[in-house]
Amino acid sequence: MAERSIGQAQDEARRLAALRRYRILDSLPEPVYDDVVKIASAVCGTPQAVVTFIEESRQWFKASLGIEGEETPREIAFCDQAIRRPGEVTVVNDASVHPLFRNYPQVTGPDHLRFYAGAPMVTPDGHALGTVCVIDRVPRQIDAGQVAALGSLARIVVQLLETRRAQLDFQRQLAERELVTQDLIRHQRELEAHNSELSQQASQDPLTGLLNRAGMQRASASAQSGWSGSGPFCVAVLDIDHFKRINDSFGHATGDSVIQAVAGAIRRNVRGGDIAVRYGGEEFLVMMPATPATGARTVIERIRREVAEQPGLPARVTVSAGLAMGQAGRDEPEAVFRAADQALYLAKRRGRDRIEVVED
Ligand code: GH3
Ligand code: MG
Ligand code: MG
Repeated sequence: MAERSIGQAQDEARRLAALRRYRILDSLPEPVYDDVVKIASAVCGTPQAVVTFIEESRQWFKASLGIEGEETPREIAFCDQAIRRPGEVTVVNDASVHPLFRNYPQVTGPDHLRFYAGAPMVTPDGHALGTVCVIDRVPRQIDAGQVAALGSLARIVVQLLETRRAQLDFQRQLAERELVTQDLIRHQRELEAHNSELSQQASQDPLTGLLNRAGMQRASASAQSGWSGSGPFCVAVLDIDHFKRINDSFGHATGDSVIQAVAGAIRRNVRGGDIAVRYGGEEFLVMMPATPATGARTVIERIRREVAEQPGLPARVTVSAGLAMGQAGRDEPEAVFRAADQALYLAKRRGRDRIEVVED
């Protein structure tokens, strides 16, 4: 006996779990379930019809016709008795003389329930979730065709529930996938940001913040149009004069700060499209796409003057520069650079703190 009731409790727990998987309880009204109760009442000729689900301690109406409220306690539910015989339609012709139902408050009270017929809604895995039922205030009979129709409606509702659950599952999967996608996108953005930070670090000279040679290569590749279209471009090579003496007199750290000061003057004077590079120890390169020699000379001259007049340095610091011009589409930047380097050599020979220009 005890074993049997443990088994029943387990069955009921599984039935409730199955019911909850459909997520139908307390859902909003839906026209298709309203249609089911209309058909049930029309087929059986009763004023009342309900699609009801039996939960732990209540029955809840998904759709109802001719009945107030949306739930009743389970212990007075006719349908709770009906689902105990999932294989058949329970028909009570006159509840007032029925041994089990005659003392139910709906029968003895003002509801005056007399007739009841309920077809259990049984899931594919065998759980009776509730019923499609019809009710009347007077005793009545229904024929086999009407009983069968109620059974059909109950099976249709189960099919609706299955479809509804598949849709909800699908929506949930979509939402989960969307979350995963968002996560991946965020992760990828972080990686890209990290990558671009790394590549910027790899392109930058740490002492001056100007581009290093690798950075120059990258920048000049992306500024290709400046020297592959047509029109003039310029390359200047700048070198700090007698820098060895600064190192020797004031030490390497002071030498470093002089390099930074010269780099600062360069950075302040180059323009948007120009490429400023720390090319070697105390040598700098300025590549100026789409710039004629006069414009380039102005830029480099400003740098030279700013360095020579810069206050706060341990000694007077000067730079020499060689400037060469090329024609985009005709001259390789590399050749123009060599010409600028030659001009720098000339500037050193001619006394330093000056600019020599190789015109086209
Ligand atoms: P010139 O006017 O002919 O250019 O004379 P210079 O003394 O500047 O010429 P040189 O090329 O002989 O000397 C450059 C010196 O720069 C040699 C090297 O020790 C020093 N140097 C190179 N890189 C750095 C650096 O990062 N920091 C410091 N403090 N010194 C550097
Ligand atoms: Mg040098
Ligand atoms: Mg030098």
